[in-house]
Amino acid sequence: MDLGIKGKSALVCASSKGLGRGCALALAREGVHVTLVARGAEALEKTAAEIRAATGVTVITVAADIVTAAGRAAALAACPQPDILVNNAGGPPPGDFRNWSRDDWLAALDANMLAPIEMIKATVDPMIARKFGRIVNITSGAVKMPIDVLGLSTSARLGLTGFVAGLSRKTVAHNVTINNLLPGFHDTDRVKSVVGGQAKQRGVSYEQALAERIATIPAGRIGDAEEFGAACAWLCSTQAGFITGQNWLIDGGAYSGTF
Ligand code: NAP
Repeated sequence: MDLGIKGKSALVCASSKGLGRGCALALAREGVHVTLVARGAEALEKTAAEIRAATGVTVITVAADIVTAAGRAAALAACPQPDILVNNAGGPPPGDFRNWSRDDWLAALDANMLAPIEMIKATVDPMIARKFGRIVNITSGAVKMPIDVLGLSTSARLGLTGFVAGLSRKTVAHNVTINNLLPGFHDTDRVKSVVGGQAKQRGVSYEQALAERIATIPAGRIGDAEEFGAACAWLCSTQAGFITGQNWLIDGGAYSGTF
């Protein structure tokens, strides 16, 4: 299926590794020119080289922290008017809410709610003027299935989800859609470190902790970043212009509700 986005430009935040990288690669495979943002330059340049070699599209890199105003300004200077925006950043740490300070809450809101809203604010009106735009926010399955220890993540992402629910109904008349992708359990560095931490805490092997987690997924396996990226690319397709304000779980069936 030709997604109809060849030659368009995408700004993909937090994309040197993991799910963001998967989205950038999938978009590049469709002929989209991508601007990658991450803090660490080494992994960023490695990923950029791999995407260039695999696809031949133009890949621009911005070594910056997307959670800061300066980082966002650098990203937008490199790609001022993207056709496609993928919002992503690292997730807040797990913990007990009794230990979370006001600063912990503000950091989570900055990273997982306010940074994506600022990026949308900077890019959505030019998309509306050009009558094409696709915005995808990487949130979390925890938005639909909250987990107490991930309260910082869930709360901040729900704030973004509520905001998007309203705005996305305004932009769609201009062929600008805004949707959220909700990852379940995908094989990325973050997940490896989370599972490793849990294994250590419980005194079991990494393999055992991973197998126990996978046993809760109807698909019987962990997801990978490339299939997550493929879903993102499709949501960014010309064919997906009638889909907006949705929260799409990519979780191998882990969420068991009817809706
Ligand atoms: P990952 O493998 O750790 O990759 C994170 C990527 O984001 C890296 O490229 C990292 O590069 C970049 N990054 C992090 N903070 C950044 C910042 N402030 N500014 C710019 N770039 C930044 O993580 P992941 O598993 O792909 O997760 C991506 C998001 O999905 C996270 O918010 C995570 O909480 C959420 N999520 C993931 C899963 C899962 O199963 N993987 C499940 C639910 C939710 P630098 O560190 O060099 O900046």
